[in-house]
Amino acid sequence: MNSEKIVVYPGTFDPITNGHLDILRRGIDLFDRIVICIAANPAKAPMFPAAERLEMIQEALKEKGLNGQVKVETFDGLIVDYAQELGAIALIRGLRAVSDFEYEFQMALMNRHLNSHLHTVYLMPKDEYTYLSSSIIKNVARHGGDIKRFVPAGVERRLIAKYNNPEVE
Ligand code: ADP
Repeated sequence: MNSEKIVVYPGTFDPITNGHLDILRRGIDLFDRIVICIAANPAKAPMFPAAERLEMIQEALKEKGLNGQVKVETFDGLIVDYAQELGAIALIRGLRAVSDFEYEFQMALMNRHLNSHLHTVYLMPKDEYTYLSSSIIKNVARHGGDIKRFVPAGVERRLIAKYNNPEVE
């Protein structure tokens, strides 16, 4: 039996923030290998196409020296099936405030119903990232606010470029 503990970190990552990276670091402390799975998630009308979200994550991993244990992929479909194909034992997710809880609870129970062998592990970020989300970052960047403390350098650069382009709304 393979004793390597692989976990999947699924999400939209539109774009990746330091909050996502905080959860990732905690996951690295606990498991052998993490696969970040980027959900296409058209229902959320993402700002960045999945391929660009993947590029931004890879740049951030390189910048932070985390690329050894972490792989990044895009996926479309049921995360439980994808996790099983990868031989993962669990999904990791971040829990910020109580407001995350209801949705996460629903997802975790549905995923358990779909695959009872796959666990969901929740990790809490450092308190300064508790109120951080990809949406709030996009809003602040849209109005020219400083987002440096909250996102990797490549993400900041791309957001500034997007909002300086008059074709972007
Ligand atoms: P999804 O659409 O699946 O919620 P997100 O990219 O918004 O995708 O979030 C992916 C995961 O990362 C979720 O578990 C979310 O709670 C977590 N997450 C997002 N931002 C933060 C943050 N600032 N701190 C901790 N966890 C976070």
